[in-house]
Amino acid sequence: MQIAANKVATIAYTLKDGDGALIDQAGKDQPFAFIQGIGNIIPGLENALEGKAAGDQISVSIEPEQGYGERDDNLMQTLSKEMFEGVDEISPGMQFHAQTNQGMSVVTVTQVEEDQVTIDGNHPLAGVTLNFDVEVIEVRDATDEEQEHGHAHGPGGHNH
Ligand code: ZN
Repeated sequence: MQIAANKVATIAYTLKDGDGALIDQAGKDQPFAFIQGIGNIIPGLENALEGKAAGDQISVSIEPEQGYGERDDNLMQTLSKEMFEGVDEISPGMQFHAQTNQGMSVVTVTQVEEDQVTIDGNHPLAGVTLNFDVEVIEVRDATDEEQEHGHAHGPGGHNH
């Protein structure tokens, strides 16, 4: 069976950035399952996996526009520390859920200076070239329930 719309694919993968630094991985013992064609994964990876079958291995380099998008400097803001009342200590790398122009999103603290805090609402992988090495483990039909939920169930998917 080949990966196509509404199939569940289970994959093992390694993800590195443009400099070869490891970002994320899922081994064969803990693979990742998704439904093809509904945006469970980034467009560039869906395109690269379309038509592949169990046992296939691919290496693909995905530019930001087919990944998590380009960085948008308008999503960076400098706020007064008073905005973070109730947080004991603010340090770079901390993440908060915040209301933004695009709705609820995760913002990351990038800089703390005196009483000023700089936050970044970009996805952490925005602007990053994504180098995937993927092995397809299994391809099967999505169940009605999975299609209804919009995600894969079982090993590598949601358990509920
Ligand atoms: Zn579900």
